[in-house]
Amino acid sequence: MGKLDGRVVIVTGAARGQGEQEARLFRAEGAEVVIADVLDEQGGALAAELGARYVHLDVSQEDQWRSAVSAVKNSLGRVDGLVNNAGILRFNSLLDTPLDEFMQVVQVNQVGCFLGIKTVAPVMEDGGTIVNTASYTAVTGMAAVGTYAATKHAILGLTRVAALELADRRIRVNAMCPGAIDTAMSNPAQLDPAADAEETGRALDELYRKLVPLGRIGKPEEVARLALFLTSDDSSYITGQPFVIDGGWLAGVSII
Ligand code: NAD
Repeated sequence: MGKLDGRVVIVTGAARGQGEQEARLFRAEGAEVVIADVLDEQGGALAAELGARYVHLDVSQEDQWRSAVSAVKNSLGRVDGLVNNAGILRFNSLLDTPLDEFMQVVQVNQVGCFLGIKTVAPVMEDGGTIVNTASYTAVTGMAAVGTYAATKHAILGLTRVAALELADRRIRVNAMCPGAIDTAMSNPAQLDPAADAEETGRALDELYRKLVPLGRIGKPEEVARLALFLTSDDSSYITGQPFVIDGGWLAGVSII
């Protein structure tokens, strides 16, 4: 018996990174998984490998949400789970951030999450779960990622309000707040054929060995296990909560 047998779950931004690991784990736990992304080739190949579905979905676009969700409903008959995982990061100081850049991040991270809740919750006819991927920067500040941090704080607000408004329909809404996780977002060199991703990876390892109490960067598979907990009945009495998964980074500062 899988923990998600018989359930249909949409994971946004699932062509790679944390979303990919969530799709893999959910599929292994028996779910019908819908991989939604803008990376059609990568997402389609992953779906074929896993026996999952792929839909093109730019989460910032309401019309694309409507057609993706209706395609899922028509082909699979139901939707029981959503992981709002898609996100983008831009490095800039607040004073140097052009408004266009600020709005682009808001549109994907914050509006994308809002549209996911707004479009998917109405078709969850038999209860359901929504897991929103926020961040460590949803609960504390971090210089040079102000726009990103603002959208991730907003995702926690959306999570709490959605939990209150959807509880009577037996839809639980929670948020994950990952610290540094080893994906292309934290190490963009992974995507650049000209870069030495291993070298950058080693520099990041050294940084996180000092910064993070557990002494290492997190793995996307570890976040996927938290997403599974929040999507399965193992978390049946939990809603409206942020879950920090950061190797102890937020615990405080050590002076020894
Ligand atoms: P990633 O860059 O590897 O994955 C992001 C995925 O989102 C990609 O597949 C990308 O194509 C997709 N995406 C981007 N814009 C999209 C859009 N408009 N519509 C649909 N899909 C879109 O990075 P990741 O680490 O796997 O990121 C997953 C989530 O975790 C993001 O929300 C990110 O903000 C969050 N997060 C990441 C870290 C980290 O250190 N990697 C830490 C905290 C939170």
